[in-house]
Amino acid sequence: MADAGRDGSWDVAVVGAGPAGSAAALAAAQARPGARVLLLDKADFPRDKPCGDGIAPHALDVLAGLGVPDAAAGYPPVGRLELGFPGGPVAAGDMARPARVVPRRVFDARLVAAAQERGAVLRRQQVREVAVLADRVLLDPGTPEQVAARVVVAADGAHSLLRRAVGMPAPRRVAFAVRGYAPAPAGAAAQVIAFGTARWPSYAWSFPIGDGWANVGYGEPLVDGAALSRRRLVEGVEELLPGAGGGARDWRGHHLPLSTGRARQPDGRVLLVGDAASLINPVTGEGIYYAVLSGSLAGRAAAMAEEPGGTYRRLLRSHLGAHLRSTDAAAALSRSPRLLGAAVRGAAADARVFADLVELGLGRGVLTPRALAGVLRGAGPLAAGAPTAGPLAARRTARRAPL
Ligand SMILES: Cc1cc2nc3c(=O)[nH]c(=O)nc-3n(C[C@H](O)[C@H](O)[C@H](O)COP(=O)(O)OP(=O)(O)OC[C@H]3O[C@@H](n4cnc5c(N)ncnc54)[C@H](O)[C@@H]3O)c2cc1C
Repeated sequence: MADAGRDGSWDVAVVGAGPAGSAAALAAAQARPGARVLLLDKADFPRDKPCGDGIAPHALDVLAGLGVPDAAAGYPPVGRLELGFPGGPVAAGDMARPARVVPRRVFDARLVAAAQERGAVLRRQQVREVAVLADRVLLDPGTPEQVAARVVVAADGAHSLLRRAVGMPAPRRVAFAVRGYAPAPAGAAAQVIAFGTARWPSYAWSFPIGDGWANVGYGEPLVDGAALSRRRLVEGVEELLPGAGGGARDWRGHHLPLSTGRARQPDGRVLLVGDAASLINPVTGEGIYYAVLSGSLAGRAAAMAEEPGGTYRRLLRSHLGAHLRSTDAAAALSRSPRLLGAAVRGAAADARVFADLVELGLGRGVLTPRALAGVLRGAGPLAAGAPTAGPLAARRTARRAPL
């Protein structure tokens, strides 16, 4: 285990041990074996984090590259995705590569343990103050818990204290979502997403874990920061996926700071990753892939670079720049339920359009000419592809009229 240096300072201190923070610690240790890496979290692990628990294959690729090939071990692949409006249209198909559904209590603890195995030191501490000096960063300066580090990775989530400390603005677009765990319908083998047309863009999901339970939830954007009633959010699941939330327990909610097309990262010694950097897909709410990718890039820059902030910013833009511009455009287009309906029709009619849109929603795909053409074609009558069975199709007659 690499402890603090003789002067009590660390090469890299990571605040927040979610997927972004653990990935940063793993990457720093990988890039510079023997580096003194401190991982701080206000919670003890294992800990819960309200989430849909859907892990895209891209996230598992990043983790495998960091020497953690088994983050989803024991949780079966979920290859099928069904998405659309409860009254139709609906698109369903096999994803190019399956996702996994791993409760965050398990997933995050596995990543923390892997980071510790690589030498990172885990300490329970809620960071309350930050001082950025010319040659180092102090966390909780002047207290018995003071930490001095050459570089700090801010992986402290949606309400990031460090983001505010380095003067970065609050996220421009924020959503709020609740999740619960419900008994999964017998034979459930697809991730199901049902879009709403009220309080747009809103959607409910049911993601089978593979152990007889499903992660179910509902989210919608916050308008002018106004609080949302938890009861109404839970009702959103029932409204869009009737029955899916029956018998659900452990309802919890959390904010989602949505990406707005450009990851912002100042020069200097504090690197923002994951939710602290507002890296959540504005169309699908997926954030775990971005968290581990940004964490791994920041960890590498923190361990190696003379000017870590600028180096990390360039790495982030080269990996995600084109993709984030595309998700921003897709978010603007999908603000109209009619256009999203056209996209669903386009995906239902053409498996390649389906694949392109899934890659945009879960990975780092861009809006391809083929996908755009599919959306345009979808603006006409539904060509094909709407399932006659399944959670969304089964309810088509009971819900709103088709778009
Ligand atoms: C209901 C819901 C459903 C979602 N579903 C999905 C999904 O299915 N798939 C997907 O990919 N994404 C999903 N997301 C998004 C995903 O949960 C986040 O993008 C992801 O958790 C970001 O990881 P992170 O490491 O940046 O932050 P977090 O996972 O939030 O971790 C931040 C850590 O920082 C710690 N911390 C915070 N402040 C301090 C402090 N001051 N000092 C010390 N420690 C601190 C916290 O305890 C926490 O452990 C969902 C989000 C919500 C709310």
